[in-house]
Amino acid sequence: MAVPKLKSEGKCIYCDELFTKAGISKHLNLHLEEEVKKQKNEKKSAFHIRAESDEMFLNLLIDGDAPLGILDTFLREIWLECCGHMSQFGTYGKEINMTKKISTVFKSGFETTYEYDFGTTTQLDIRVLAVYPFTVNGKIQLLSRNEPLEILCHKCSKEPAESICNVHIYDGEALFCKKCAVLHKKECEDFADYAEMPVVNSPRMGECGYTGGVIDLERDGRFKK
Ligand SMILES: [Zn+2]
Ligand SMILES: [Zn+2]
Ligand SMILES: [Zn+2]
Ligand SMILES: [Zn+2]
Repeated sequence: MAVPKLKSEGKCIYCDELFTKAGISKHLNLHLEEEVKKQKNEKKSAFHIRAESDEMFLNLLIDGDAPLGILDTFLREIWLECCGHMSQFGTYGKEINMTKKISTVFKSGFETTYEYDFGTTTQLDIRVLAVYPFTVNGKIQLLSRNEPLEILCHKCSKEPAESICNVHIYDGEALFCKKCAVLHKKECEDFADYAEMPVVNSPRMGECGYTGGVIDLERDGRFKK
């Protein structure tokens, strides 16, 4: 679901400092240049990738020898998986085969889209920021991710939202703090019954049966004051 313009920041995995969404990629590239000095291997490639949706972002490092499917799996684990929907890289009719090696698909500056679930679709923009000559331990690494955004309750505009109404998701009032959720239950039978979903740190928040990721759990969930 679309969230209004919010401050988006993420921590650097190397030095633990907080940077803005716009500044973190450049900063990470400085660390990656240092990695090249330490472990240069001209036969290998490490791809620095940004996946994003509005204010939410992931900076990833992926080994060029891994299949594209490794990115699909990672995106599902951290942001998307609800009930095993289909997904694809590239636009309809120009899908990129996920068994292809990352190094044969990506190059610096390459951009594509990724879609999870062709019904209630969550779309991400994927961009290759830089490529470096070294091997990525574990094939894929999370370099940074936006901290939970300060999404406030639609009703009182004071407290952080804790739950979202799956039925009212496309209207003005769908995000509620604990108190206002109790009130919404009185006016929305569906919310009281089945439509209450948790606010989570993912662009799939409130969609289908999504209730949160299975990795990097300490940065999932909602904003805390
Ligand atoms: Zn750093
Ligand atoms: Zn689903
Ligand atoms: Zn409220
Ligand atoms: Zn509702």
